[in-house]
Amino acid sequence: MSASTDTPKLRMSSLSTFADCPRRGAFRQFAAIIAEVSEKFGRPIDTSRPFKGSRAARLGHALHRKIELLLNAKMESQVAPQELVEQATLETLYEGPPLRNPTDAPELAWDDLPEDDNIADVETALKMIDNMSSAIDKHVAKSKPLALERFISAPFAGFELTGHPDQIDEEIIVKDNKSHSGTNPKYYGEQFGGYGLILKEMGEKPTALEQNNFQRLKEKESPLRVMQYIVDDVIKDAENLIHRTANNLEAYVDSGDPSAFHANPHSPLCSPKWCDAYGTDWCTRHKQGVTTIV
Ligand code: SF4
Repeated sequence: MSASTDTPKLRMSSLSTFADCPRRGAFRQFAAIIAEVSEKFGRPIDTSRPFKGSRAARLGHALHRKIELLLNAKMESQVAPQELVEQATLETLYEGPPLRNPTDAPELAWDDLPEDDNIADVETALKMIDNMSSAIDKHVAKSKPLALERFISAPFAGFELTGHPDQIDEEIIVKDNKSHSGTNPKYYGEQFGGYGLILKEMGEKPTALEQNNFQRLKEKESPLRVMQYIVDDVIKDAENLIHRTANNLEAYVDSGDPSAFHANPHSPLCSPKWCDAYGTDWCTRHKQGVTTIV
């Protein structure tokens, strides 16, 4: 299928991007193949992606770290010392690629990217994590973790499917934790279906797929909203999406034509801020200018 002889990898965390805009998903997932094929067809496309930091992503990492430490201790029938958990959470909040605009206190530097204005500073991010404490405690209390961040993979439709679900509980309940702004959690059914599909292929089909949602709030306690996906439905959706992606990739490798992957300019993420392909020759949607006639 692919230009190279290696079996292409497909991360399950990218499936929701493929569902939203297949062209954007391909640019993120198949960068090496696109670079090779576009070169071969004499229309080289630069698939390198500039680092785009994100306060929201960093806060998400810190939240994951906190939950991971608490669940790790629970797996060992211990209670994690609060001080250590807070320290590790803080460190996770600050770690990552070099920051662009260090503040007067470089050790506490933050980035200045214009995203998620509701996390404008470190203090606010820490307050938000603090406001999630009761939701985190509820989540940990009802968890019976067997594995955290387990790497799972299986061959399917010419791909090597890969994933790292945040946790797998007793009775093969797959859980992934998300933080979100706004009232409603986002839908990640394709990603969960992908995890379910891999585990099914491994002979460990899940009994439940559960998305735990932590809302980012500055002023008050965050609620815990749990989204339960219908296992067979989302696995089917993931299978269909993966087959379609395999067909699209095959057509692209044969033709060198990016339109083998459908482009969705209706996506709310169709902007230079969210799409790495925006402004490149991989997708020409950015070239459709608007003329104001007075
Ligand atoms: S620019 Fe818009 S349509 Fe093109 S790949 Fe990105 S999100 Fe999709």
